[in-house]
Amino acid sequence: MIQFKDLSLVYPNGTQGLKDVNVTINDGEFVVIVGLSGAGKSTFIRSINRLVTPTDGELLIDDEDILGYKGSKLRSLRTKVGMIFQNYNLVKRSSVFKNVLAGRLGHTGTLRSIFNLFSKEDKALAYQNLKRVNIEEKLYNRADQLSGGQQQRVSIARVLTQKPDYILADEPVASLDPPTSHQVMKYLKKINQEDGITTIVNLHFIDMAMEYADRIIGMRAGEVVFDGPVSEVSEET
Ligand code: ADP
Ligand code: ADP
Repeated sequence: MIQFKDLSLVYPNGTQGLKDVNVTINDGEFVVIVGLSGAGKSTFIRSINRLVTPTDGELLIDDEDILGYKGSKLRSLRTKVGMIFQNYNLVKRSSVFKNVLAGRLGHTGTLRSIFNLFSKEDKALAYQNLKRVNIEEKLYNRADQLSGGQQQRVSIARVLTQKPDYILADEPVASLDPPTSHQVMKYLKKINQEDGITTIVNLHFIDMAMEYADRIIGMRAGEVVFDGPVSEVSEET
């Protein structure tokens, strides 16, 4: 469970990224955050794995306030909370398989990870996750030889290999054409339904949000201006 309690974030230049946000996200939910560019969607998502640090309030994950986390606490938070980015963030010159295995790094000792020593189980898990997003045939291809949609599927396989309890996706389809966007959203939704991983996705198209979300959070100028099931989204909101 994720709880935002009177959470605010002011960037060093004075911009208010979040303002008094109160939101509880329960286990297993598929939440889509919508809003115009600059509304605070990315700040909301990045607070949850502490890529940014809120300046006021509390942010509880499984009943622990994560705002003071440093060092190993922060590393284990980022293993438990996986992230998918708009531009995939794959290691371009590395193989698809190595990219997916990187999902295990948070679980492997530092020395092992320096030498890229992965166990048989790690490799089996990585392969199985590539199969779940139907990209296992590209195993030995370099990441930058794949299309955008294929790269995003690899990044989904990587995040699954991390065995997260939560998945954050920051504009995961913003660089993709509509058919490919739907394909990626379907994989995210399917994984949420099959594995029960709590999933929070930023989108800037309301139509796409309505199609996949269980619950929609609308943001404007750092504030939550709507929070409810898709059935409650009206023309005005
Ligand atoms: P969205 O994801 O909805 O586009 P963001 O969370 O990226 O919105 O941004 C919210 C507001 O915070 C915007 O006004 C943006 O310009 C500002 N902002 C984002 N990151 C920073 C930063 N590192 N420093 C200063 N302002 C920022
Ligand atoms: P996105 O919409 O994907 O969040 P942006 O183009 O808004 O990407 O931001 C790119 C980077 O610049 C991010 O790291 C963000 O935190 C930072 N950023 C965004 N707006 C500002 C700003 N007004 N001042 C400083 N940094 C910013």
